[in-house]
Amino acid sequence: MPDTLPHSNRITAATCCYCGVGCGVLIEHDGERIHGVQGDPSHPANHGKLCSKGSTLHLTGDLDARALYPELRLGKGLARARSGWDSALDHAASVFAETLREHGPDSVAFYVSGQLLTEDYYAFNKLARALVGTNNIDSNSRLCMSSAVVGYKRSLGADAPPCSYEDIELADCLLIAGSNMAYAHPILFRRLEAAKAARPEMKIIVVDPRRTDTCELADLHLAIAPGTDVALFHGLLHLLLADGSYDIAYIETHTEGFDTLRELAADYPPSEVAHLCGIDEADLRRAAELIGKSPAFLSLWCMGLNQSTAGSAKNSALINLHLATGQIGKIGAGPFSLTGQPNAMGGRETGSLSNLLPGHREAGNAEHRAEVARYWGVDSLPESTGLSAIELFDAVREGKIKALWIACTNPAQSLPDQQKVHEALAVCPFVVVQEAFFTTETCKYADLLLPAASWGEKEGSVTNSERRITHVRRAVPAPAEARPDWAIVCDFARRLEQQLRPGLPSLFDFDSAQALFEEYKHLTQGRDLDLSGLSYAILDDQGPQQWPFPAGAQQGTARLYGNGIFPTASGRARFIADAYQPPREAHDADFPLLLNTGRLRDQWHGMSRTGTAARLFGHVSEAVLGLHPGELRQRGLQSGDLVQLRSRRGGLVLPVQSDDTLRPGQAYLPMHWGDRFLKGLGTNVLTQPAFDPLSKQPELKISSVEVQKADLPWQLFALVEEDVQRRFEALRPLFEGFAYANLAPTGREERPALLIRAAAESAPDAALLAQIDALLGVDQGPVMAYDDTKRGVGKRVRIEEGRIVAVRLAGETAARDWLKGLWLQGTTDMDLRRWLLAPLATPPGGGRKASKVVCNCMNVSEDDICAGIAQNLDLDGLKRELKCGTSCGSCVPEIKRLLAKQPVAAIA
Ligand code: SF4
Repeated sequence: MPDTLPHSNRITAATCCYCGVGCGVLIEHDGERIHGVQGDPSHPANHGKLCSKGSTLHLTGDLDARALYPELRLGKGLARARSGWDSALDHAASVFAETLREHGPDSVAFYVSGQLLTEDYYAFNKLARALVGTNNIDSNSRLCMSSAVVGYKRSLGADAPPCSYEDIELADCLLIAGSNMAYAHPILFRRLEAAKAARPEMKIIVVDPRRTDTCELADLHLAIAPGTDVALFHGLLHLLLADGSYDIAYIETHTEGFDTLRELAADYPPSEVAHLCGIDEADLRRAAELIGKSPAFLSLWCMGLNQSTAGSAKNSALINLHLATGQIGKIGAGPFSLTGQPNAMGGRETGSLSNLLPGHREAGNAEHRAEVARYWGVDSLPESTGLSAIELFDAVREGKIKALWIACTNPAQSLPDQQKVHEALAVCPFVVVQEAFFTTETCKYADLLLPAASWGEKEGSVTNSERRITHVRRAVPAPAEARPDWAIVCDFARRLEQQLRPGLPSLFDFDSAQALFEEYKHLTQGRDLDLSGLSYAILDDQGPQQWPFPAGAQQGTARLYGNGIFPTASGRARFIADAYQPPREAHDADFPLLLNTGRLRDQWHGMSRTGTAARLFGHVSEAVLGLHPGELRQRGLQSGDLVQLRSRRGGLVLPVQSDDTLRPGQAYLPMHWGDRFLKGLGTNVLTQPAFDPLSKQPELKISSVEVQKADLPWQLFALVEEDVQRRFEALRPLFEGFAYANLAPTGREERPALLIRAAAESAPDAALLAQIDALLGVDQGPVMAYDDTKRGVGKRVRIEEGRIVAVRLAGETAARDWLKGLWLQGTTDMDLRRWLLAPLATPPGGGRKASKVVCNCMNVSEDDICAGIAQNLDLDGLKRELKCGTSCGSCVPEIKRLLAKQPVAAIA
């Protein structure tokens, strides 16, 4: 839908900028500011629905967190100063040109993102390969999808997910492996919930070491030991072959390599596989039976398979099941990888991994290089092997990369082994960061910070998990001097051209995103993804389309390989016989737990955007480590205790909580926490950089760790309203000396606040506390204060117009939840005054903790829902009376879990 209304009520169609579902959104705005967002009813991915993240997009992106002007640092150790675009890009071009002249093309690198639009990616690729002459361009998609790329290419011949979203609704049996779809791809999960409700005979198998919300829909949950997926898939194949549940005609006509795989599968008998995977043999047999008997078998997978040192083998072993049963290329069937990022697919298509070239070509293939070089009008493209993400940052740390350009991604939070990544960024002579949010951990290292346009502010296209391309339209101008990513790249490239190839016609003569799309699409002509027949006009007229869409096509292609012909040399799909390899790290005496990482329901990646919206912290407000209740007991720990969590690479201090969705021996920590929100370089200070030999995707799912109680008796709690982002920036550095510090927005958008928890062995010096007080606004004015210097206890509460606006408790924080509750209610009472002026730490009434918000859309807490269940309300009753689960639906699996724990019938 194009821009429709002229004034305050304008609506522009775009897509959600978070996950790979690629939901269509309608942005409500006045031409200057975005006021709201709705799901686009005409978009085939979501039919008008949005999840908790998508439906709050308009509440995110606080201008106080945005990069607004170019900023340049003219020497290490100096602060950055505001610069104009001309001087900033001239300087960057001079540094890059000088570096290239002195050290050669492989002394520079580009690290880009699955959140860029296709046109941005294409510009970056042309810059790196055609102008700079390096293959050192990699994307954060390396951390997310590169094992799926290898899986598809090895088994099927091309990096093309063969299915459509509607296959999720049409399948008879779904295997969901390594994907907490309920959190990570919520709108697809809503579609699956609806399909299962309409056809209860549909069978769902979930393979995940944790009992996630996705398991709420499962007929069978296989809680395998972490990293044993390949053994599981071979074990399933073993049973399918033994039962005769395979399609010999399909195998003989359309595949190759079956005999080798059959021999391998013989080594995976059910009893041994069940033992290795830590599941019941009967469950393994049931899974094989469900798959074998299913008329249409679909598998869905995500990071649990991909982020692994055996990621490629896991992908291929799963695809083997489809080839063996002929369950591919038909309705409701096929191997369907879910992409994590909104445009990871566009990155793969434009060649934005170091080993790729545009149009699903290979950088290592001379013929492919020649084709692209010819099209671009350059003599040749670089032959040298480009560096993948982990290798790239190793090379930066070793001094081999002297100029690094990072766009739209936050490696100082997202890469594994963070200590080394921070070291790399600190020693790199010239770091350019092109970013919408200056608050990311990586921006601290920018010698040149270039402000980029963000969601709703730029035009281009994206491809979602089902190969569907959507035209993303601009609703409002970017703030201040921020510019679209493609425009920044092209402007820089033209300046670099003047130094590297003066007098020649520019390779970057693009004046719009559309001009880039038009050039790019012809590079796909004749390739498996051929989208040469597409244009922005067709996308506007006919809506989002699935590739291939060759010239002359009337519509996109819903399913691939229906004819059983694959884009391999022989035209046959290939069975891949990789044996199971155990994970690189395992339990041992020093590190007896295996740490798994994953997503929260309401946060996205490193929280640069979602972390600006107070409401999105209602469900989970701080970084917490989950441990099986038995592990807590064994260590003498209780939920809420602070613990020291340590791997071979680094450590963190954070609270622990009992989590019965985990099995003994496992630990779980969400991936989102970086150094900004949690002191200590975040979750990835613990994870390992070991990577899959083929996909180069690192192992982010398994790290051996140990947990010990942290003895930090001096604690601090603070809460302050207004200017949340600015106070966050000012206060965060003051907590560097604390052993533990967690900072995050809290509350709702009408009254957001910053919430801080910190702890140390002893009280910090008085000057530091005074600095913190000043920034909290509890150093003067209408502040009630109590100090017990002997006990090191201090209380400050600022009250304006009869309500609390700031709190600081130091030394002893038992009253924190009570005070937070009073703040939320917007009231004060005599109890507060009495408590403030007394030495008592314990608040009146004992200080019961406010429960978390389960339904963020309707602001319904866990306590409210449990009270409703106690009154015999079932799911429909809860929806009717409390309205929970009636908007985006993201909370429904959790409500069902609460109902299962406290069933209505049991109460009645
Ligand atoms: Fe955005 Fe949610 Fe749709 Fe993903 S499922 S694209 S996060 S609205």
